[in-house]
Amino acid sequence: MTTYKTVNPADGTTVKEFETLDAAGVERALADAHAGFQTWRKTSPKHRAEILHKVADLYTERSDELARAISLEMGKPLTESQGEVELSSNIYRYYADNGPALLEDEKLDVPGAEDTVLQRKPVGALVGVMPWNFPYYQVARFAGPNLMVGNTILLKHAPNCPQSALLMEEIFQQAGLPQDAYINIFATNDQIAEMIADPRVQGVSLTGSERAGTSVAETAGRNLKKVVLELGGSDVFIMLDSDDMDATVESATRARLSNAGQACNAAKRILVAEEFYDDFVTKLTASFEAVQTGDPLDANTTLGPLSSQTAADTLIEQIDDAVAKGATLLTGGKKIDGPGAFVQPTLLTDVTPDMRAYSEELFGPAAVIYKVESPQQAIELANSSAYGLSGSVWSADLDKARDVAEQLEVGMAFVNEHGTTLPGLPFGGVKRSGVGRELGPWGMDEFVNKKLVRVS
Ligand code: NDP
Repeated sequence: MTTYKTVNPADGTTVKEFETLDAAGVERALADAHAGFQTWRKTSPKHRAEILHKVADLYTERSDELARAISLEMGKPLTESQGEVELSSNIYRYYADNGPALLEDEKLDVPGAEDTVLQRKPVGALVGVMPWNFPYYQVARFAGPNLMVGNTILLKHAPNCPQSALLMEEIFQQAGLPQDAYINIFATNDQIAEMIADPRVQGVSLTGSERAGTSVAETAGRNLKKVVLELGGSDVFIMLDSDDMDATVESATRARLSNAGQACNAAKRILVAEEFYDDFVTKLTASFEAVQTGDPLDANTTLGPLSSQTAADTLIEQIDDAVAKGATLLTGGKKIDGPGAFVQPTLLTDVTPDMRAYSEELFGPAAVIYKVESPQQAIELANSSAYGLSGSVWSADLDKARDVAEQLEVGMAFVNEHGTTLPGLPFGGVKRSGVGRELGPWGMDEFVNKKLVRVS
């Protein structure tokens, strides 16, 4: 049974608990989202954009309060929380600014008729299932484009982020969105399955684990509902060469340790050209050891706790498994004593395919380092993963780096930056990292009826 509650991961205290929906609540939410769609779909794109502009402004105005709420619930250092609030605000603003133009009829130049256009029509109520690692940003990627399109939303957030979930709903209402256009639901997984199956729901978007994605996609498939899935990753940071090793090491540290390493597109595998390996690894180890672990609400903290004790225990099991089978621990590898869910920043080498750390996603502050003899070997190792979310290539030789980036089997490839997320750039992966794209015009095109109207 899912329990929605705020547990401060920095000290283990339970702050507040919330009731889960009952059967009548599920029916009410479905009926409201469906009824809401009948009116929201008829509003003009201009009106919807005005509301999203207000949402964006409210995220900025209420930034401190919003940032503190996620730091408390999932342990992100306050400065990172503020960054997430700003990014979320920018996503709503992007759709407010660009949505009306993106929704204009597209004239198709196909002969034989007076007029041929493609219209983008909303499809109905959607279920969103979101995780705790970026509580506002993940929702913004889904709610921004879909509210702009004219769809309505039933949002099930992770059980450890109930207060942030309620704050988002409150902001939508404060901005003037009808109450039945965005409905927060404290639902169980069975209730989510029931909602996906209900004819009043037209699709589901999930960000989270493969386990969650397969379960939700199975229900959706059985009921012929469209899905967007943004799942895990085991993304590479490929270091081919550097003319500023300190800066590259700093980038690698950030790419792995931001958000305590709990990002789908974090640099979980670091591949280093052999001629730079010793220097890079020595510096990266020192950089990991210099990180300030502590209370997320303390301004000096650069690494907070993991989101829960379970998350910390899972990561330690993966590290212990690797070490027991012969991996080398360069630094870290242990939980930090105390009530919080803290894990030391960890670097592993000599990881082989029989170890969990080779193939599984490490969702915390732990990276695996591999020495590579050539760009080709780096590409093969990168593409051997079952995941295909993103990857980055680092080199002073941009042509060489671009060539490697183009051969990565991923949804997003970067040269000399890692994991950049901007409202206008597509976000999503291939293989077991998911299906569909979020953000930019692509995120607005997922749950729309691309309707042909041809007049002869
Ligand atoms: P989950 O994938 O279980 O949780 C993400 C969301 O999915 C939550 O709201 C969760 O709710 C929901 N969910 C899970 N199973 C179902 C289901 N069958 N039906 C409906 N909703 C469901 O992630 P965890 O928190 O358990 O984290 C485990 C691992 O998942 C991490 O270690 C990481 O590898 C990966 N992960 C990846 C993320 C990403 O950004 N790609 C984000 C979060 C996790 P509930 O908890 O109520 O089941």
